[in-house]
Amino acid sequence: MTGKIIKGIAGFYYVYVEDQGVYECKAKGAFRKDKIKPLVGDDVTIDVISSEEMTGNVISILPRKSELIRPAVANVDQALLIFATKNPEPNLNLLDRFLCMMEEQDLPIVICFNKEDIADDGFEERMRATYENAGYKVIFCSAKNDEGIDGIREILKGKTSTVAGPSGVGKSSIVNKLTEGQTMETGEVSEKIGRGKHTTRHSELLYLGDDTFIMDTPGFSSLFVPKIEPVDLYTLFPEFIEPASYCKFTGCAHDKEPSCGVKDAVASGEIAASRYENYLQIYSEMVNERNNKYR
Ligand code: GDP
Ligand code: ZN
Repeated sequence: MTGKIIKGIAGFYYVYVEDQGVYECKAKGAFRKDKIKPLVGDDVTIDVISSEEMTGNVISILPRKSELIRPAVANVDQALLIFATKNPEPNLNLLDRFLCMMEEQDLPIVICFNKEDIADDGFEERMRATYENAGYKVIFCSAKNDEGIDGIREILKGKTSTVAGPSGVGKSSIVNKLTEGQTMETGEVSEKIGRGKHTTRHSELLYLGDDTFIMDTPGFSSLFVPKIEPVDLYTLFPEFIEPASYCKFTGCAHDKEPSCGVKDAVASGEIAASRYENYLQIYSEMVNERNNKYR
């Protein structure tokens, strides 16, 4: 039968099989010779050892649609990035870094601002202008007032999504709302895995029904620096790409250079000032890192 790996710990893979539950499996079989390590998110075929004890062997990994490096997970369709409208004040620098990280991995992104109930006037308009203009889907919700949660459910439906955000933004409150009514299955999963038994946090997929999985992404690194060449950083800012085609100089860093299409777009308001400032900051960090490495 086939299922999806929702967690891997110490040589065991926990495989969710629709309508049945979670099998505790070891990896056996031909694919081990090929040195393919099963990942959370992998769709696999398993042989059941005991249907009573829900144990089995993973015998093959179905072809991967995609493979994320961080977090290490297969077959992710999109990232849902959660920030708060305030409390804590959204750190747009962190947001833009995270967007770069997901862009570098070619992952579609939805930006969700929680705590809509306490947002300042004009915040929503400003964020929509900044991020919808960059091509992202932007949604607002309030886990507290149960507003916009159905919209999130709709976005997640039938897909596997990584859910990330800094602490305090209401991520657990949202995930709790989403898993309401799924208590049997998620309860069963937790029981089998023994949540809380392990000190290190592992990646884990939560099943929400309807072929929908979310991954609570542990950690939210503010230290991320893209691996690409600094001169290509602008390509991770989707709204910079078209304006950059008007730059006079090839290899324009969009910083001190004259006749720069990106700077013109910032001046005309086409590109948000915050996005440009964050671009410059990440750019200079990338250049510094390089200088340190080659010194
Ligand atoms: P996490 O750290 O991102 O998992 O955040 P939590 O879900 O633990 O929530 C952090 C705090 O924000 C808690 O005190 C929640 O009650 C509060 N909170 C969560 N969602 C909302 C919301 O939509 N509006 C308001 N005003 N507070 C919220
Ligand atoms: Zn330029």
